[in-house]
Amino acid sequence: MKITQYAFLLIMLVGCQTASTPKPQTDSQNLPEEMTSTQTKGSGNTYHGSKTNTATVDKDNPYWKNAETEIYKSAEELEAQENREQRSGNGYTTLRHGPVNKKEIALTFDDGPHPNFTPKLLTLLDQYKVKANFFVIGKMVDANPDLLKQIKQHGHLIGNHTFSHVTLTKIPIDQVLTEYQANNDIIKKTIGETPLFCRPPGGDHNAAVVQAAQSLGLTTTLWTDDPGDYANPGEGVILARLNQRLGNGGIILLHDGVDETLDVLKEFIPACQSAGYKFVTLDQWQKK
Ligand SMILES: [Zn+2]
Repeated sequence: MKITQYAFLLIMLVGCQTASTPKPQTDSQNLPEEMTSTQTKGSGNTYHGSKTNTATVDKDNPYWKNAETEIYKSAEELEAQENREQRSGNGYTTLRHGPVNKKEIALTFDDGPHPNFTPKLLTLLDQYKVKANFFVIGKMVDANPDLLKQIKQHGHLIGNHTFSHVTLTKIPIDQVLTEYQANNDIIKKTIGETPLFCRPPGGDHNAAVVQAAQSLGLTTTLWTDDPGDYANPGEGVILARLNQRLGNGGIILLHDGVDETLDVLKEFIPACQSAGYKFVTLDQWQKK
């Protein structure tokens, strides 16, 4: 792992710990069943540095106790969950993919804005005339407001990735609302507009989480394709995974904060463009 990546992880950990301070206290014993029964994955939960450090988190704070482990959902798990929900007729909707009859792809970058990566990413996207989607964390916006303004000025879509990057199915629904609203507020304060799209950390969601987002005007956005760039598997692996799943209406999960991602995009973007794919912002799909 490179020094910049260690620095990023450190920033994320410090950020998450700081965020715990002002959180309202909640009683974990009184959480609804749906918030306590979700299964977590194993060691794979050390996902792109956003997992809180159990050695330093205040274990007496129920808010963090219930949300400290990120629940990560693969593209396959998300698709299966969507199919289950549709069969059960629960009726909530998420945006998991775009139109399958158009050669369009949405690149999404989570967890920024980041001072060491966002400027490089914006330059690269400009180089290929690509518009993308940034799901930003409120604490990162708070620390880097000018970077959020730059993302906006470059014409990219800005989405809400919660204020402090916690697992939303593990906290009471009023806290889910607080996480999204607090991020909406700081984004609005910074760039003068409120997001229309959100992404739950790890993709982990349930009906209550999606409906809470919807009540704030946010469409919960998932993904069809996750090459796992956060785990630094190597450029060749990331590129192979991207090419394997490439298809119409794809929503690709990447991260604003990974060196390899920048290098992979220098190959992936022009290859897609040569194959006739167009990169879109999510609002272009919602208007259709
Ligand atoms: Zn994230």
